[in-house]
Amino acid sequence: MEVGGLKSSCEGGRSLAHCRLVDVASASNFHSFKLRHFHLDLHLNFAVKRITGWQVLELTPVQPGVQSLILDTHPSLLVHSVDCKVPGASGAPDVVLSLTYRIEPFTDYGSSLNISLPAAVIRPHRAFRVTIRYTTTDGPAIWWLDAELTCGQTRPLVFTQGHSVCNRSFFPCFDTPAVKSTYSATVRVPEGVTVLMSASRSAYSKQDRVFQFSMEYPVPAYLVALVAGDLQHADIGPRSRVWAEPCILTCAVSKLGGNVERWLNVAEGLFGPYVWGRYDIVFLPPSFPIVAMENPCLTFIISSILESQEFLLIDVIHEIAHGWFGNAVTNATWEEMWLSEGLATYAQRRITTEAYGDAFTCLETMFRLDALHRQMRLLGDNNPVSKLQAKFEPGVNPSSLMNLFTYEKGFCFVSYLSQLCGDIERFDSFLRAYIEKFRFSSVIAQDLLDFFLGFFPELKESCVAQREGLEFERWLNGCGPPLCEPDLSAGKALTGPVQHLCDLWGMDAPEPQVISTFDLSSWSTFQTVLFLDRLLDRSPLPQGIKNPFLPLYEDLCGGVMKCFAVEVFYQTQARLHPNLRRTLQQILFQSSAFNTSTAPSLLTSPPSAPSSPTDPTANGTIALRDVNVSA
Ligand SMILES: [Zn+2]
Repeated sequence: MEVGGLKSSCEGGRSLAHCRLVDVASASNFHSFKLRHFHLDLHLNFAVKRITGWQVLELTPVQPGVQSLILDTHPSLLVHSVDCKVPGASGAPDVVLSLTYRIEPFTDYGSSLNISLPAAVIRPHRAFRVTIRYTTTDGPAIWWLDAELTCGQTRPLVFTQGHSVCNRSFFPCFDTPAVKSTYSATVRVPEGVTVLMSASRSAYSKQDRVFQFSMEYPVPAYLVALVAGDLQHADIGPRSRVWAEPCILTCAVSKLGGNVERWLNVAEGLFGPYVWGRYDIVFLPPSFPIVAMENPCLTFIISSILESQEFLLIDVIHEIAHGWFGNAVTNATWEEMWLSEGLATYAQRRITTEAYGDAFTCLETMFRLDALHRQMRLLGDNNPVSKLQAKFEPGVNPSSLMNLFTYEKGFCFVSYLSQLCGDIERFDSFLRAYIEKFRFSSVIAQDLLDFFLGFFPELKESCVAQREGLEFERWLNGCGPPLCEPDLSAGKALTGPVQHLCDLWGMDAPEPQVISTFDLSSWSTFQTVLFLDRLLDRSPLPQGIKNPFLPLYEDLCGGVMKCFAVEVFYQTQARLHPNLRRTLQQILFQSSAFNTSTAPSLLTSPPSAPSSPTDPTANGTIALRDVNVSA
């Protein structure tokens, strides 16, 4: 990427690059319309695992000659009818027109809904409303959990997960992060079920068993989220409450306490006001497929994270950071997810540095960068998934290319920008100004970098004067490890003892007596994780150290333990979510077809615990190792 870059602009003040923006993961014609708002009216039926209802989209054509509205959808979503309200002639009542539509195949993660718009509907720059009646069942966005898959095991639960391109199976939409709109929803449920959504306002009518939601700030489709089940709440701060199944609520509240408000205050001091009003957290059963999701106003987080105070802390702070980076300002395409994850990871570490000091932050950064290097060794230096600006071929599911590079190489690039400006607090003020300028919009890397060079004009001038380019292009489009990494020497008080113990184990002839006197009593979880990871990096370990029960299905399948893995699977499969069950079946029975190199973290995680859902040795541990990888 060149210094300076595109300066032209076009309609709506968007950059030229935006007007030509192509999202290969969306079949929709989102360029042709402005979506102002949409409303969902849904009925949840747990007995048949079905959502039935309608959606109203408020659209304005912004291009001449538009004759159809094309939305992203999914084969699991059945459209019943599409109609449109047209104002009657000379003051007569509105006329409802039934519209013709057809569903066309798109990719294996979605299809397109092509709605014909008659001339009576389309007037340039005049708003119109389309109503779509539909039913959706078990698409990739919607996770119906039978009672035995929940913590309490008494009532079923359903939640949605939109990231990256799943919400097209929840409601027809412009399923691209380039498009943002406000939304509202009416959700009808059976008695005893509580519904929550990623919305800034909510209300409940007990008499009608109807929940009403309104999100007053524009969000992309992937950030619309819903959870419904046996959920109770407790306030933990002036703008925060914890939601959870009754059996884990007390634990969740005690672990978070007053911390959330403290973290929000630190974040506001660094990056400016928190714009979403509320910051609530809902704890989901251990079968939640990822660690956490930054749904605005309502972070979704896996309940097994309660096993570790440090992972809980890091992950909630990471999701809080998304309130600025990812949610307020969003990557316009899935090819630049680092704009969300790299910046959120940088912001998370600025918050932990302010709240817990340099040493803690450096320790956490170190074991994550270790993991990045481990992934690099697996993939090789020239693997294109290590590029910050990924190039998706049509048909490739964007979720499949989300990896540690998105987070950690993105973090290193942001750290590099902060080093270029030479003063970490000036860089904080740059990030504050960046949020202020681009709030509630979607950006490409060029927007960030142009704004950076505008904010620090001396960098641009010195770069031109010295005829040496800043290395933006190599950072964004080069394969391989980060070009540089931040100095982590401030973590030495915590990482030094870890390295010392690793060195003792790593000797040709480890001395058990010396090792056994080593004092681990004051070690934090992160120190233990760093130690175990570094010990494993020295594999093959000397016989006698190596534990043959490495809890990874793939490792078990590769050796004589495959029978054991199959047995564990058969004993526990009833408690696994069907999606995870399918993945494990794939690993166990079609191992050769399984490609670990680009698989998201879930696929290499072990199954849920056969005993307690909060058993830390089971479902929590590996998911925790990959914390944030898909958050
Ligand atoms: Zn994240």
